[in-house]
Formats: sequence, structure tokens, C-alpha cells
Amino acid sequence: MEKGEKKCPKPRWPEGARRGGFLIERLTELSEIRTTVYLIRHEETGARILDLHCDDRENVFAIAFLTPPSKSNGLPHILEHSVLAGSVNYPVKDAFNELLRSTLQTFLNAFTYPDRTVYPVASQVHADFYNLARVYLDLVFRPLLRRETFAQEGYHFELAAPDNPQSPLLVSGVVYNEMKGAYSSPDNLMYKAIQEHLFPDTVYRFDSGGEPEEIVKLTYDEFVAFHRTYYTPANACFFFYGNIPPEDHLEFLSGVLASLDKRPAFYTIPRQRRWRKPRVVKRPFPILGGEDPSKKGVVNVAWLLTENNDVFETLILHIVSGILVGTAAGPLRKALIDSRLGEDLSPVTGFEAEMRETFFVAGLRGTDSQKARDIEALILRALNEIVARGIDRDLVEAVLHQVEFAGKEIVRGAYPYGLKLMGQAFQTWPYGGDPVQAINFPVLIEEVIRRWEKRPRLFEEAIEKWLLANNHRLLCIMEPSFSYLEEREKKMATYLAKVRKNMKESDLARIREEMNRLRVYQMTPDSPAAVGKMPRLKRSDLERKIETIPTEIDEEKALTVLKHDLFTNGIAYLDLAFDISSVPEEDVPYLPLLGKLMGGMGAAGLNYEEMVKRVALNLGGISIHPTCGLLFANKAEVWQRMVVRARFLYRKAEEAMATLGDLITSCDFTDEKRVEDLLMEQKNRLASSIVPSGHLVAKMMAASSFSLPAWREEQWEGRTQLIVVSRALESFRENPHAWVEKMMELKDKVMRRAGLVVNLTADEEGLHLLKEKLPTILDRLHDAQIGTLEGPFLPERRHRGVAVPAEVSYVAGAIPAPGYGEKAVAAMMVASKYLSNGYLYRTIRVQGGAYGGSCVYDPASGVFTFLSYRDPHIVRTLEAYREAARLLFGGTLEEEEVEKAVIASIGAMDRPLDPAGKGFVALTRFLAGITDDYRQALREAILDMSPANLSQEVREVFAGVEEKMVIAVLGSEERLNAANEELSEKMLLEPLFT
Ligand SMILES: [Zn+2]
Repeated sequence: MEKGEKKCPKPRWPEGARRGGFLIERLTELSEIRTTVYLIRHEETGARILDLHCDDRENVFAIAFLTPPSKSNGLPHILEHSVLAGSVNYPVKDAFNELLRSTLQTFLNAFTYPDRTVYPVASQVHADFYNLARVYLDLVFRPLLRRETFAQEGYHFELAAPDNPQSPLLVSGVVYNEMKGAYSSPDNLMYKAIQEHLFPDTVYRFDSGGEPEEIVKLTYDEFVAFHRTYYTPANACFFFYGNIPPEDHLEFLSGVLASLDKRPAFYTIPRQRRWRKPRVVKRPFPILGGEDPSKKGVVNVAWLLTENNDVFETLILHIVSGILVGTAAGPLRKALIDSRLGEDLSPVTGFEAEMRETFFVAGLRGTDSQKARDIEALILRALNEIVARGIDRDLVEAVLHQVEFAGKEIVRGAYPYGLKLMGQAFQTWPYGGDPVQAINFPVLIEEVIRRWEKRPRLFEEAIEKWLLANNHRLLCIMEPSFSYLEEREKKMATYLAKVRKNMKESDLARIREEMNRLRVYQMTPDSPAAVGKMPRLKRSDLERKIETIPTEIDEEKALTVLKHDLFTNGIAYLDLAFDISSVPEEDVPYLPLLGKLMGGMGAAGLNYEEMVKRVALNLGGISIHPTCGLLFANKAEVWQRMVVRARFLYRKAEEAMATLGDLITSCDFTDEKRVEDLLMEQKNRLASSIVPSGHLVAKMMAASSFSLPAWREEQWEGRTQLIVVSRALESFRENPHAWVEKMMELKDKVMRRAGLVVNLTADEEGLHLLKEKLPTILDRLHDAQIGTLEGPFLPERRHRGVAVPAEVSYVAGAIPAPGYGEKAVAAMMVASKYLSNGYLYRTIRVQGGAYGGSCVYDPASGVFTFLSYRDPHIVRTLEAYREAARLLFGGTLEEEEVEKAVIASIGAMDRPLDPAGKGFVALTRFLAGITDDYRQALREAILDMSPANLSQEVREVFAGVEEKMVIAVLGSEERLNAANEELSEKMLLEPLFT
């Protein structure tokens, strides 16, 4: 959102007006979010349209269909993938990928929910926005749904050796492999178990994503029929957000809708019948051999709550969840943790409103599943006590402040801001809910506060009604199993053997023929005529000038202060970047833990619970993390900082600064029980993120020997950090006092005034306020110097394989690459897009059946990495990496493909940032020494990149890739061993923990 007047855009038509086949059903001005809202109906088809007209130039369009599944065969999900593979007017094989590559989209995706499918696009450029919307609408309403697409995206059978009549049957397919990955993830299995068993009589008992065993039973005819049934205008909700005026949207839509299906829609999601008695369910999930099953179970208690159409009650329950478990001071969370019945809270703990009826879950992980009944009793006892004792008023105020803050903050993380509002509207609108009420958050929260003031036991009453007196309660026990994955594989193998046995020679011939047809289809490029129909930008359409972030630098009294004058909606952002370049090498791995402790312990005479409440009441959030990067044009030198990032409302500035000052100068680690809880929480969080982000974990391992920033990333965020945290927990348990003492010493080595850089982001009023209050913190910092020490030492360069419980692999291959300011940075940026969207996507995803295959180039750490995600192959993928590198300078690069890569590179550079993001990016540029002049030159070099230059400039980086590339693979032990047999240079195989 740009700086601008605080008013809503002027309404274009009165309520009740009819314009070109559209009826303006409702018009509302939401002044709190400066948005004029139109609810419109297309009279002929019955299509519903919501437009949020505001002054954000990142426009969003989305269409949602209600797609209730009737089996767990993944139909909605496979369809979501398949409609993006070409339509009547855009008959290219992979329209989604074409759009990704040749437009300035700032967001382009599709999501399958348990009951609906959503297709959103976003762009900051008017013509580009409508190009995207036009193609997306054609894709969803007129997809080609080829048999080959169904086989590639869904599943298909293959013969292990096509020429051998005895050969066993195999399954491949993108969604099939994606879901195999999902069915290896404990968190995912846990969530599924709750959803399926809490709603045993509704569509939610099925998995819309698809269960691998069910996916393989789906037929092509069912697939086509599902599309015909549900993808109609009357069953769709159209969403627009941004500064493009509504009349443009209607003009655009009337052209599209005129030729579409006019069947009425009558689908809805039935409500779940309520239980008279609570229920219990037990489900298995995979763990590794060697782990202790009595410490691995997860126990959850879940309640079915109100319909999410009741936005008011839903908000109250959201707040109740925030009170009970949302902060470390939450009384239910505390009761669970303090009971020592498990290691930490279950990751699904909290409130869920994405389905038609909402639910709340609380539980423990790292427990013995035999203790399930004890945990359930504990939760009920704690809730009874909370209601009897009454909820602490400070805690309610802190949670309300958090909710208010979240509603006010302009956030543009990975998603456009408009997408947040889209999500809120789609939560209730497809079931007939009021989307306008759902997005008018500031008004809702004010109403809750008013009611609470009149009725001080509002939240206690909600706990009584919805939790204690509610018999629709599920005790869900997740039991660890060593043989889970093996059994699943066996079950599938048995099924395939049965199918195979019943096949006649003619069936086998058909499979062979289909395999061939698919291969030919995948290898044949789209015709130039088909490609020519896709709308696309040319490089001459791209802006040549960089966008700059306002930065004013003050150097005073050996202190550097950066100021960024930006509209932040009344929120101040303060970053303190402490110099950690002289922290002893042996202490460096502990910096993330130090940040975790500082943010989670007591301080200045307050215990952690009081401190948590104080933080929640006065700040929007705090994070404390180490970070590192190469210095500009100097690969031998780096910057290393521990960055404290805080955000708060202007009106809270005084208390927020005092709180922050206490946290960083007077923190208190003496509560050893709390330290242990935080260590366990961190260990579990890291351990459970390994498989879901396996590609990133593999990438960090592969890259770690190439530069200090890459090594630091591995030490601070990768598998090395997991090992560090597990060992820290052990040594803490051996001698808590000594361990805590060491962390306090480390804190003193980090939180020093010497070399500090302060980074402030707010508008003029906020900057003034921040500057004025800054001494509250700075005056309390000590100025001691610490000497420089030996090191750092990069790890040994070698291939590694790490065994994880997963049915698919994650394969990374890294090579050293130039850092900012060195030769060939622009060419490497273009090359990474060229390969990611072209060869790697085709070879690893389309032909290989992996969920993802790409590469990333990071000039801040000087590394280029190939990676794959949920990949059925290892050796074949590594071969593709080598081939990709050779391709860049071996053959001739096509002008058109290079142009697409240039557009994608510029698109990535121009990704919009929220105010906090802009401030932080400007800080890292300052620390690395990257100037706007350099950025301008880099942009021009990208814009002017020719195929010949590209090939020429990257030659040195990719030459000899066979020798240079370091590989790291996460996968099952069997697959790693099998891969090692084929590899000439073997991987060192290691368990996840050493
Ligand atoms: Zn998918």
C-alpha cells in the first residue's frame, strides 16, 4: 500500500444498480481498511463477484470453486494441477509454467482445500494483470484435460522393464509422488487424522489431496466428469482486489462469462452431526529405527466448534485459543508443558477455521501414547480451573493487542497483502457466508472488546460452552511405528501385483503404448503457433530503472543509524544489528539458541510468564537471529550480525522500548525448567521441519563448504543446528548451571554497543519518535571490546547422504559461484531462471515425476545450487544437474527462452516488499556494501543479456561441474545405498543425528 489519503475510493455505482448484465447487490465502504467493497452478481450465469477497491497497486484476482470430494482419490487436487496444463484458447502443454516465465506475476498459484479449489494471480502491471486473469479463466473453464496430462499430473502405470513381459508394475505421477511425500510427514498425518475423525459424516472425512493407495484407483472418466460438474460460473466465487477500478473488471468479465455454462449450482457442504459422547482414535506414523517410541508419540484433544459463517463467534474462539495456548503465558499451554507428560506442544495445537465448521486442538508431542488418557484428563482439569479461577485480565489485553496489531500491520511476506483478504473472504463465502463482514476485521475486533467490557466473563463462558460442555470431542492418539513406511510400500506392492496378475497381454500392450505416448508427448515441444497465443511481455516492456528504498545514514558517536521514511500504518520497526564478527568460533553455533532464550525468558525481575505478557501487550513481535553475508566484491570478507527486530504501534513506543531494553540487557536465564522447555521446543521444531523442507536442508548441506555465509546458514538453520541443539540439551541436563552461565557470557559478547548498526523504518512521525526514545536502549548497552580469534574453518568438501523417514528423496548439488560485485552475477541470475523454468522443470518434474526440480543462485553467499523436492530418483536427477550445466554453454541458447529468463529475473527483483521488508533489505544492502548504482548496473546488465553473452559469461562457473559439484541427498536408507552403488564418488552416509 502506498502513502495516500485515508479515504475509500469513490463508489462507482449505487447499490441495486444494473450494469451490462451485472447487478450491484451490495456496496460498502470499509473506511478502517480504506476499501470500497462491491458484491456483484452476473445475472445470466449466477456468478458471484467480490471487488475490494483500494489503492494497492499489487492487484489480485482469484477464482474459487466448491469442490467437495466423495473419495480420497485426490480428484480435486489432480484437477487443480491439470487445468493449468493448457486450454482451448491457450493450448500449450504447461500454461502455468509459461505464465510463470513470461509475465511479471508477483503471485501465481493454485490451492486445493478440503472442500474448495482456489486459483489466485497477482501483478503490479495493469495489462499483465488482465493477461494473467484471462488465461487463468480460460484454463479453469475450458481446459483440454488430455489423457497425457492426467497420466503425468495424476498417476500412470509403467512396466519396470517395458520389453520384459514378466516385469512388475510401477506407479508414477506428480500428485502421486507429492502425496507420497505428504503421507510420510508426521505433522501432516496428524492433521489428517484429526480432520477425518472429527467430521466422520461429511466430505471432510476424505482427503482432497489424495491418499496414494486411492489415487491409483481413479479413472480418467471420473476426472473429466468432476470438472464438468463443479467448474461452472454458478459454483464459482470471483475475487478482485487492488487499485484497478471495478468497471474495468466488469467489462473484462462480461466478455468471459457470456460464452459459459449457465447451469445453476446447488452444491454445499453439509454440517457434521454432533456426538453425544466423546470419541477416541489411534493412528500410526513413521519414525526411524533407533528412536525411542515411548518418547515419540503425539496426543491431541480436538473439539468441533461453531460454523465459520458466524464470524463473530469465530473471532471470540480465535481469541480464546490465543489466550489458552497462543503465548508462553497461556494457562492451558503452561499446564501441558509443566505436566512433563510430553516434550512440547503438539504442532497442530490451536484454532482452525478453514473448514465450514471450526475446531480447536490442544495436545503434546514427544510423549508416550500410553499416557493419552492422562493428557486428556489434564487438559479438562486445566480448563475447569481456568474457568473457575477466571482469566488474567492482563493476558486478555495482551492477546487483544496482538489481534489488533495483526489486523493493522501491512504484511507482504511470501504472499501479496490482497491474498490475506482473499483467504478471509473465501473462508465463508462459498457456503453462503458474508464475505464483507469477514474482511472487516477492525470493526469486528472493536465489537468483541465492547462486549468483553460489558461482560467480563465472555471468554470463560466461551470455554465452558464450546470446550467443557461440548461432547463432540476427539482424543486422537498418534502412535509411532518403525514399520509404517514399509507397510505402506508393501500394501501398494501387493495391490499392484494383484492388478498386474489380472492384466491380459492386451492390457500390458496398452500400458506400453501409453508409456510411449506420454514420453513422446513430454518430449515434443509446443508448436510455435500454440506458444504464440500466450500473452507475454517483451523485455522492452520492462522498467529499466531500479526502485530505491529511502535511506538516510547518520553516523554519530561511533554509532550508525539508518532511517527509512515509509508509510507503515502507525507501526514502528526497529532493528538492532549487533556485530558478532569477534564471537569465538566455538560459540557461533549457539547464537540461534541465544536468540531463542532472550526472546523467551524472564528479564528485569519479571519471570518469563510476566515478561511474555509484557511483550505481547506492548510489541507486535520480536525476533533475534544471527545472519551473515559476503562483502561486496570481496569474497574473502564477510559481515556477521545478530539482528534484534522489533515492531510496535507508535502509541506503545515508550513501553515497547523499555521492554526491549530489559530483554537485551537484563535478561535472566536462571529459571532452568524454562530453559529446558525452550531447548526441547527448539529441538522438536527443527526435527519436524527436516522432511517437509528436505530440499532446503539438502541445499544447505551441499553448499556448506563453499563460503562462510553458506557454512553459517548450515550451522544456524540446517541439520548442523539440529545436532547442536540436541547436544545442547544433553549438556544442559548434565550441568544446567554451567550451561546457563555460558549462555549469559555469550550474551555479553554479543549485546555490545561497539559496531552496532541501528535501523529504523516508519513515517516521519514514527522516525522522530524512534530517534527520541532510542537512548532508552542504547544507554544501557556496555561498550567492551573483545579480541579477534582464530578461525573460522569451513567443513570438509564431500558428498553426503542423510537417512530420513520418507518415501521420496531430496537431492541437492552445489557449486561455487560469484558474489555481489564480482564478474557474471547478472548472467548467473538469468542462468538460474533459464534452467529452473526450462530444462530442470521439464526433466525432473515433468519427465521424472518429482514434485519439484529447480536451482537457486545466491550472490550473498556465492553459491549456486540445483535441488529437487519429493523426488522418486537420485542418480538420474544428479545426471540431469550435470547435463543442465553442460547445456548452458554447450549448445546454442534460444533467444526466446533467454528473454523469458530475463523477464523472470526482473520479476524476482521487483517482487513487492512490505515496509518492514523494505527496511530490512536496505539494512542488509548497507552491511554488504551494495549501492543503488551497482543495482542499477546489474539491472541493465540483466535487461541487455543476449544468449551469446549469457553462455560466455557463465562458462567459467559451470565448466568442470563434474569435479566441482558437491552433492547432498536426504532419503530413505535403502534409496541412499542403492544410489551409492551407482555413484563413482560415493556419498558419506550418516544418520540424521550423529
Ligand atoms: Zn499439488
